[in-house]
Amino acid sequence: MRILIAEDDPTSARYLEGLMSRLGECAVVADGEEALLAFAKALDDDRPFDLICLDIMMPRMDGQEALQAMRKLELERGIKPSREVKVLMTTALGDVRSVMSAYKGGATAYITKPIVSERLFETIRSLGIET
Ligand SMILES: [Mg+2]
Repeated sequence: MRILIAEDDPTSARYLEGLMSRLGECAVVADGEEALLAFAKALDDDRPFDLICLDIMMPRMDGQEALQAMRKLELERGIKPSREVKVLMTTALGDVRSVMSAYKGGATAYITKPIVSERLFETIRSLGIET
């Protein structure tokens, strides 16, 4: 499967890429704007991502803004809800507010940092993605 990782912290990005590359082909970007561009390009190329790991706190455009823009784009492209990309929000903030607003923005699941591999893979399996 195709996976997009959006994470501004290089150490976290490398760590996530190391884990996620077991599941598929990973592309890594460092902010929400780049994530949105990569997402749109994948749709244009008819090679959409199957899963996006989206950090909430990023410069330029944060994860929640990027997610809203992605969902809007899917709607404009006539992508059915069942075909929407699965989005796993990653956040250092364990607080209810950021998690709730992530869901409102269309997140499929979230995971709090530090990311533990077992928890990550378990969460991905719960999304119904083959791992
Ligand atoms: Mg961050």
